[in-house]
Amino acid sequence: MKVASTAGASGSGSTAAPTTSSSVSREARVASHSHIKGLGLADDGTAIQSAHGFVGQKSAREACGLVLDLIRIKKFAGRALLLAGGPGTGKTALALGISHELGQKVPFCPMVGSEVYSSEVKKTEVLMENFRRAIGLRVRETKEVYEGEITELTPTETENPLSGYGKTISHVVIALKTVKGTKQLRLDPSIYESIMKERVSVGDVIYIEANTGAVKRVGRSDAYATEFDLEAEEYVPLPKGEVHKRKEVVQDVTLHDLDMANAKPQGGQDIMSVVGQLVKGRRTEITDKLRGEINKVVNKYIEQGIAELVPGVLFIDEVHMLDMECFTYLNRALESTISPHVILATNRGQSTIRGTEYDGPASSSGIVSPHGIPLDLLDRCMIVRTLPYQRDEIREVLRLRAKTEGLLVKEDALERLTEQGVKTSLRYALQLLTPASILAKLSGRDEIAVEDVEEVSTGLFMDARQSALLLK
Ligand code: ATP
Repeated sequence: MKVASTAGASGSGSTAAPTTSSSVSREARVASHSHIKGLGLADDGTAIQSAHGFVGQKSAREACGLVLDLIRIKKFAGRALLLAGGPGTGKTALALGISHELGQKVPFCPMVGSEVYSSEVKKTEVLMENFRRAIGLRVRETKEVYEGEITELTPTETENPLSGYGKTISHVVIALKTVKGTKQLRLDPSIYESIMKERVSVGDVIYIEANTGAVKRVGRSDAYATEFDLEAEEYVPLPKGEVHKRKEVVQDVTLHDLDMANAKPQGGQDIMSVVGQLVKGRRTEITDKLRGEINKVVNKYIEQGIAELVPGVLFIDEVHMLDMECFTYLNRALESTISPHVILATNRGQSTIRGTEYDGPASSSGIVSPHGIPLDLLDRCMIVRTLPYQRDEIREVLRLRAKTEGLLVKEDALERLTEQGVKTSLRYALQLLTPASILAKLSGRDEIAVEDVEEVSTGLFMDARQSALLLK
């Protein structure tokens, strides 16, 4: 699979490089789902009531399982999954669950529809950046290493002609004893620094990466350890290695990482610098041209069998916030030969598609469509509904979340939180956990008690309904 135009240059003529929402807020968005480890399905595809951090929402989980099967047999291309349901019914959690099921190193890029609106960056540019964040590249580099036991380690010092006093290390001679004999290497002074950092000395078994000079201690020679009676358990006695060894190193990056690394060339960082060196010139922005060049290099790596593409999950929450221009872009992007797996979510029913309203007096009219999504995109979507939670499910999720956050909650306090969840939403009840735990701590308790929940939910904070009523 190669990098095609959509994941690369858009052809839209945009040039500015966005650094849209920060990765910090992106991580924070995922942090509240850290208890979700997968979809919690049995081998026959049925949802287990409580598994992988998921509770209930069984038919949606089973439908997502089917989508996962389609992805695995590569029959999901050109389609998108649309999760439709009320706030806090687990749409984001489902998207994350799918991503976990696809593999640990598969990129997951969550975004909110309204993120595309910025005064500085084009909407399609923001979408493209997120598409590239959701496409991974697995690079297998073969590194040449020298491995063996150090029998000599001699830094050679010379007078520093500039300062007039003091000495600097000009080079280091290191002898490595291996099964094939002893190899003497004359090394750069910077390698001496990494040797010092690793605290290696004569008798250690090390390897030195041929291209970067990185030094790693892998153990201690048997003979040396016995002779000097060193703390044996600290040093794993290893058979002496070979002078020359080839070691495979696997690195996972996203196309966006590569864009960024080349927009701000820094050097010195493996794959990024490798690609960076190939895409010459000093750049400060991610341009279509740069993306095109990166795609070329990536394609070359793919052809050579050095790299493979790993399509991840692009999750667009509140998709009804996108406008006609964005939907057109999405349609085109889904047709690309390389696209991440796109999951959309909405809590709207019939809505006006943004960007179709008329100007002037009839400004409220526009094209009304299910979920505010144009029909041609809806046609590509597999729609899965998420349902509100039952009391028992809310209690179970709260219990799970408290455990994940390391919080202790008394049974009656949990019941009180559950009530809040039933009355308002699961999300609201979950959000009360941490402030309640702070109140408990302030009162010198380890466990959240019912009075802490009372205070945060009625005394200190309000749910949306309460606050709206008050203003009325
Ligand atoms: P919104 O429409 O507001 O974006 P959402 O449908 O995406 O909401 P989530 O953010 O997935 O809802 O859910 C809110 C919180 O509840 C998250 O912490 C999520 O991990 C948790 N959660 C939701 N459903 C489940 C579930 N079935 N099992 C376990 N945890 C869940």
